Amino acid sequence: MEKLLNYINGKLVEPTSGDYFENMEPATGKAYSLIPDSDQRDVNAAVEAAKRAFKVWSKMSVEARSNILLRVAQLIGENLDELAAAESRDNGKPYKLAHTVDIPRAQANFHFYGTGILHFASESHAMGDVAINYTLREPIGVAGCISPWNLPLYLFSWKIAPALAAGNTVVAKPSEVTPYTAYLLSKICIEAGMPAGVLNIVHGLGPKAGAAIIEHDDVPMISFTGGTATGEWIARTAAPKFKKLSLELGGKNPNIIFANCDFEDMMKTTLRSSFANQGQICLCGSRILVERSLYEKFKTEFVARVKAMKVGNPKEDVNLGAVVSKPHMEKVLSYVELAKQEGGTVLCGGKKAEMTGEFAEGYYLEPTVIEGLSHTCRTNQEEIFGPVVTIQPFDTEEEALMMANSTKYGLASTVWTSDLKRAHRVARELHTGIVWINCWLLRDLRTPFGGVKSSGVGREGGFEALQFFTEPKNVCVKY
Ligand code: NDP
Repeated sequence: MEKLLNYINGKLVEPTSGDYFENMEPATGKAYSLIPDSDQRDVNAAVEAAKRAFKVWSKMSVEARSNILLRVAQLIGENLDELAAAESRDNGKPYKLAHTVDIPRAQANFHFYGTGILHFASESHAMGDVAINYTLREPIGVAGCISPWNLPLYLFSWKIAPALAAGNTVVAKPSEVTPYTAYLLSKICIEAGMPAGVLNIVHGLGPKAGAAIIEHDDVPMISFTGGTATGEWIARTAAPKFKKLSLELGGKNPNIIFANCDFEDMMKTTLRSSFANQGQICLCGSRILVERSLYEKFKTEFVARVKAMKVGNPKEDVNLGAVVSKPHMEKVLSYVELAKQEGGTVLCGGKKAEMTGEFAEGYYLEPTVIEGLSHTCRTNQEEIFGPVVTIQPFDTEEEALMMANSTKYGLASTVWTSDLKRAHRVARELHTGIVWINCWLLRDLRTPFGGVKSSGVGREGGFEALQFFTEPKNVCVKY
């Protein structure tokens, strides 16, 4: 079986332990490659390489750094088909999705920050005729970047590209569940002529290799995307060392549908916001709140269209592929059982999608719609992160807002209405970092991205990320 390798100091290397574990293909439930079981020794070597490289990389001109990032972007584009196939195989997502969303976005991330750094500027503050202050924004050192399995290369590059553009060097770990495209990225970086040690990729388990990055004294900033429980542990561990932290965590996002919306537009988008990537996007709208006068019409039409969605071999033209792993599939199914115990009615789905032949052991779930639950029950409060949504009626705008804001999460929300005043009013009252009005997942990379409450700390995107990955220094010059 193919062995993936770590990328340390510009070279593809075996883990120090010599140990590997199996990488599973969600579509078939079979192992197809081996992942390095890296530990603290590999992380130490990566950090040492990154520290050495920082001395050179941080002093290079922004144009020179930009050129290398743009070259990486170009190579991602040239290898689109191979990367999309690898992402689909590793994650279970439809190839079409990886080809149109994941990999183009990874390319865009490098392109965006490769050019963005050329426009990054800082402030000056004049004190009358006494003095002038200016702010230097300096790279910090070695950034630790840790990303999850749902949008593997997309989210991995969303951290790495701004960290590198700002002049830091990086030690990164992709999720062990989906390491393959990060491995391909290391090959691309070698081809792009990235200097040795600038980017280091260590594969392995979160609590072992990941924790070693978080705990390392010479990694002063951490950018993490993943679950809220892991984020809490990272925050606790990093706090006594005063590390800079950017945490993008879980969500339980409301999708609020008012009766006067554009029904067809809302319906098409709601199918996507519920089930894209098998519902495994932190931004998916898993709690659908519908104004009572529209509720029955919505329910009938939505359930009919969900039943018509095709689940199957990710290489084919399907709406849903496989979910990412067996434990994750079981977790999602356990939430369907919980919903039933809590008094919910499963309107469609709710079980494994049965497959045949080589796909019989794959991790396929039917898209699931549940009604009849209170907004306070666990099913409506906890992140399921799979193809499961609940629908709930509401009577007034106040009630919709109360239900929408009732969870500990605050990542994103969606509002459907053709009443402009209401749209702005509701957007102001929603406790989330992102509000989409009459759309979903429409992303401008310049905008601040992130959540409030238990959905995270800090913002990614645009200059926010470049500010995170630099330290401001005030210089005051007396005239
Ligand atoms: P996890 O928190 O389990 O893992 C995220 C990453 O952290 C993985 O690379 C994991 O490694 C690593 N990790 C796990 N334990 C540790 C540790 N102790 N120290 C350091 N690193 C560790 O999340 P999932 O991968 O299951 O991702 C799903 C979660 O991510 C969901 O909650 C989802 O909402 C959230 N998410 C948030 C987004 C946002 O922008 N707010 C976007 C996308 C997802 P390994 O997998 O190898 O164990």
